[in-house]
Amino acid sequence: MKQTGDLNLVKKINKSIVLHHIRTDSPISRARIAEVTGLTKATVSSLVNELITSSLVDEIGVGESSGGRKPMMLIFNGTAGYAIGVDLGVTDILAVLTDLTGQVIEEYRVEHDNTSLEATVALLKASIRELIGRAPDSVYGIIGIGIGLPGICDEDGNLLFAPNLGWENVPLQQLVEAEFDIPVVIDNEANAGAVGEKQFGAGKDTANLVYISIGIGIGAGIIIKGELYRGATGFSGEIGHISIQHDGPKCRCGSLGCWELFASEHALLEHARLERGEAVDLETLLQQADAGEQSVIRLFEQLGYYLGVGVVNIVNGFNPEFIILGGRLAGAEKWLMQPLQSLLKQRSLPHPRKQLNVEFSKLGDGSTVLGASTMAIARFFASSQVSVEHSG
Ligand SMILES: [Zn+2]
Repeated sequence: MKQTGDLNLVKKINKSIVLHHIRTDSPISRARIAEVTGLTKATVSSLVNELITSSLVDEIGVGESSGGRKPMMLIFNGTAGYAIGVDLGVTDILAVLTDLTGQVIEEYRVEHDNTSLEATVALLKASIRELIGRAPDSVYGIIGIGIGLPGICDEDGNLLFAPNLGWENVPLQQLVEAEFDIPVVIDNEANAGAVGEKQFGAGKDTANLVYISIGIGIGAGIIIKGELYRGATGFSGEIGHISIQHDGPKCRCGSLGCWELFASEHALLEHARLERGEAVDLETLLQQADAGEQSVIRLFEQLGYYLGVGVVNIVNGFNPEFIILGGRLAGAEKWLMQPLQSLLKQRSLPHPRKQLNVEFSKLGDGSTVLGASTMAIARFFASSQVSVEHSG
């Protein structure tokens, strides 16, 4: 019995390896897979046949020969199933339906005012249901749902604390799984954003990157050697709470002078409000800066300076290749970037700065939804479902 189990496990692992190469390097031939994996051609052929039977791989005709018979090329069948990625924000929900390669097929966006947990979760479920309804027919259907959240989550799928939503200890994964009977993965929105940037954005070819999500607060997703760094107990990335003024104003986290008190969207709006004696929203500020209003441009430049102060700490502390700034403030790049870069030049250490790129996200507000869907897809392929189902 034991031996059979081990053999099945080996086969399962080999099959995942073969599928991984087809997913990342297609079109690819069987011979090439054997070459890069070290598996025998016979093993590769048998595993590929199973993957074709399970609709995850297609043959697409003959490729270039390196001498001898021309090989049949294999591609990953991205439309064998679909995933849903959700960014549950403080004021709106953005959800996308993607195929298994992460390509967006459908999008759904709705605003919420978070009157109650029940109402917002109901809207979340309605958004997911809407996209499930729009999904094309496929062999595997909806394989998973990933949800990025503005708070910290534990490994059991509980949202422990989301201060800007006012939520605590919500078993969100369980709530959504029970509704749809589809596997659900939840994570912090900055973690999901980092995964999205690594997979589809500026960080595509980068092994060490920090994605900084600038919203009401500031959070970071840290990718080290290609993997999301979660810290000892899953709570890494609360980078908005590094203190940049040791005796500064009190933060809601209990500390003093936290970075997000100076450099977040909330901080910007607060400065603007104090200056003009009335509340103003980000869209208005962006329009006014675009129209050349100097006092507003100065507000953005000041924000760029404060962003730089925190970014210097990240550069010196982590030595990343890439820092990607995301969130709605990406729209203010042209006023933020120059003060940020000049501060970086003045204050970061020369060696970690040498190979560094700092960019605003090109994915718009898509980093988190794309990352969330990527997480759902990764879980599907890591689960036994695919690897075992057709292993006979
Ligand atoms: Zn704080």
